[in-house]
Amino acid sequence: MLVQEFEGRTRPALRRILNATGVILHTNLGRAPLAPAALKNLEQVATGYSNLEFDLSCGQRGKRDVFANRLLTELLGCEQALVVNNCAAALFLGLNTLAEGGEVLISRGELIEIGDSFRIPDILRKSSAILKEVGTTNRTRLSDYTQDINDRTRLILRVHPSNFRMVGFCSRPSLEELLQLGKDTGIPLLEDLGSGCLLDLASFGIKDEPNPRVSLQMGVPLVCFSGDKLLGGPQAGILAGRSTLIQQMRINPLFRALRVDKLTISVLEATLISYLKHRESEEIPLARMVHESVEQIGQRAEQILAQLVAPDSMSISLVDGLSVIGGGSAPDHGIPSRLIALRSPHIIRIEGELRQGDPPLIARVENDSLLLDLRTILPEDDLLVTQALRRCLDPGHAGSLGFDPANRS
Ligand SMILES: *Cc1c(COP(=O)(O)O)cnc(C)c1O
Repeated sequence: MLVQEFEGRTRPALRRILNATGVILHTNLGRAPLAPAALKNLEQVATGYSNLEFDLSCGQRGKRDVFANRLLTELLGCEQALVVNNCAAALFLGLNTLAEGGEVLISRGELIEIGDSFRIPDILRKSSAILKEVGTTNRTRLSDYTQDINDRTRLILRVHPSNFRMVGFCSRPSLEELLQLGKDTGIPLLEDLGSGCLLDLASFGIKDEPNPRVSLQMGVPLVCFSGDKLLGGPQAGILAGRSTLIQQMRINPLFRALRVDKLTISVLEATLISYLKHRESEEIPLARMVHESVEQIGQRAEQILAQLVAPDSMSISLVDGLSVIGGGSAPDHGIPSRLIALRSPHIIRIEGELRQGDPPLIARVENDSLLLDLRTILPEDDLLVTQALRRCLDPGHAGSLGFDPANRS
């Protein structure tokens, strides 16, 4: 008992878990799992010293923001890029740098809430920019922007409606129209892309996840997006676009408060290199998860099933179902998958046992079924899933691990 208590106290509270929810980018579960190549780079950089702010070519003090900058400009085809703590920070820095004390035009249809405590109007207010709502919730025309432009207008903000979709009687100006308006008036456009997807998702029927490369190519002066959503890298916010704009952000004192550390830079650089080498499908776990076929997932599920014996009170089978991308991306698209379904009158207790196991296994409960989607389990972890399921299907075995099932709430 004492040993167990000591182990409990001396174990990190942030732990690795098995995500069988089928939600690929689960913000509650740490978003994107990182690539082994990225972690190798992290280990090399972090266990020793690094040239974080040291220019090896001249032996003088260097700048930390040059690293990912070179890779990002090459990958995205833009003049400059800057990395901060997350996309919320990127948007905040962009607004504060370009629009402090001035007005920012944004469609009423884009005044969104992304998740816990991230609301566009709140970020705008805190950045000391003045929100100027244009249009209506469902329809905003170009003329709505035009008529509200005055000498206090500093920025046009366009936000990707990440985690919801509007259907029916709705419209907003095209990106081209807003770019033309920007050109005609000299007011820059900042596009908050959210996910910033560089993967090809069109073959999965997902066509509305914007690609930063495309936006920049079309001439958007400044975009921002997350590092740990569909890019599949570490938590980071990436600003990319024109030199003149990025340079202003570099010298904003706020940048110092929002900048990233060597751990983030090392993982982000390695992630970007996978894309540059066109090896993202093999190397980035998120890309592998999105691409894995139903047949492959079904085979893995069958192998697990073959090693389980269900007690009389329970049935286990394979059923068709859907995985989702999550993380505020493609909310209306499921990716077909094959799920392990446990049916039992005690499904809530079983869910709790799996969740509190070691390692914790998180599954979905739907009606009286517990559903496990292997799309979000790394194939090398299938054995851990099998072991976790066996422990909870066989209470005798659970007892031998020191747990008393009757004693748990
Ligand atoms: C997710 C999201 C953000 C916030 O990104 P974080 O990296 O979590 O800070 C901002 N804007 C949009 C449009 C998003 O989808």
